[in-house]
This record gives sequence, C-alpha cells and structure tokens, in this order.
Amino acid sequence: MPSSRTAEALILRTYKLGEADRIVVFLTKDRGKRRGVAKGARRVRSRFLGSLEPLTLGRVRYFEHEQRELVRIDEIEVIRSPLSGASGAALGHVGYFAELLDEWAPEASPNEKLFRLGASVVGAVTEGVGVERLARYFEYWLLRLEGLYPSLSACAICAARFDEDGAVVATRDRVFVCARCGRSVGPTGGRLSAEALAYLRAAGRRQPRSLDELALTAGAARELEVAHHALIAAHLEKELKSARVLREMR
Ligand SMILES: [Zn+2]
Repeated sequence: MPSSRTAEALILRTYKLGEADRIVVFLTKDRGKRRGVAKGARRVRSRFLGSLEPLTLGRVRYFEHEQRELVRIDEIEVIRSPLSGASGAALGHVGYFAELLDEWAPEASPNEKLFRLGASVVGAVTEGVGVERLARYFEYWLLRLEGLYPSLSACAICAARFDEDGAVVATRDRVFVCARCGRSVGPTGGRLSAEALAYLRAAGRRQPRSLDELALTAGAARELEVAHHALIAAHLEKELKSARVLREMR
C-alpha cells in the first residue's frame, strides 16, 4: 500500500537526476536511511531551495510505495540549517559529518541513536561550538555507538592503566596500547597524550554544546584527529573524500 509519511530527518547528500530533479539521501529518526526524488529541486524557484544542504535537520514529508526503493519527497520543513550561524571553518566540516553519517547508516534500518548524534551536532555547529573539538567528539561517538571505540583507560594487550605516558594507537588491531606494548604492534596511528585521553573521557559524558568548556590544546586535538582518521579508515577500509579535502584545506 502506498503511504504518506512525515519524519524528522537529516539531509546527508543529493545527486542530480535528469534535467531538473535531485535524488536526496536522508537519515530519518524512525526508519533509517532513505532515498527520495525531489522533483524540480534544481530549478531556480524550487520549493526545496535552502533545504537540501548536507546536515540540514528537517521535517520531511514523503510518499512511499512498498515495491520501490525510491520514495517521493513532497516537502521539507527546515528545523535547523547548518548555514545559519555556522562559521566558514564549521561549514568545511559539515560535508565531512554528513559523509560519515552516510557511510555509517545502513539502508532502511532504524538507528535512532545515530540520528540523535547527528542532530545534536548540527545544533552545536549552529551555536558556534569549536568545530575541531566537535569533530573529535562526533568521531568518538560514531565508533562508540557501534561498540568500536577502544578502551580509553587501559592497554588492550597487557591491561596496564594508561598513565602520564598516554597511549599508542595500534591501527591494525584498532585498539589503544601502552607505550611499552606499542613497540611491537606494527604501524601506528600515532600516540595519544594523557591530555588527549582526558578530553575524550570528559567529552563523552557531555552534550556537544558544552564542549567549549573543556580544555584541549592544539597538540592534543591534532593527536585525536590523526588517531580517529586512522581508526575510521581502518573500519571503512578507505579514506573519506571529505576528510581528504579538509586535510588539503589546511
Ligand atoms: Zn601494554
């Protein structure tokens, strides 16, 4: 039975379709990732104007037909747009966040936690939270929601607690190990200082809008970035296009 639905959703990406339309990939709160056609979305006076930017949070009204994978998108009411209030640096990251969500979200399989993470990050972007620290938080939770984030407290090999020497990122096994075990784990994704580990432990217990209250030096932020990109690339077995673009922009 064809049916009309309305869902809170995050826009992840769009593709051109024919002369005037677009295919929109969106992550719904209740039914996972969907794909739909936005008719006339490429026309100058489209009703979808301003609502198809990656990471836009909106209320999407769509029409679905059981036999078809593609739904028809009738309307998107914008709840929060990353374009409102976000800095230039933040906008550079918006595409990266959307691409990560797209990679992480299985087709048509509900994942409300993933949706909530994405929605809370859009909120923090528009409120001007430092985007680098937000990115590290986002990567941490993406991995953690899947049970993939390594222990922040103890070595995965010898179980020694991490101390002021911090941890070594063992990329092949996707774990963190102590400095001593780190000598025998092959290629690494760098090391994480005690400060970097402390930031993540504290950030993991917070809402993203309060991340600016935490201490994080540029050096520790950089360690986390290198470590997370290594972990994510190891899980996805590729580097994301937008991650490469961000690196080249710097
Ligand atoms: Zn160890």
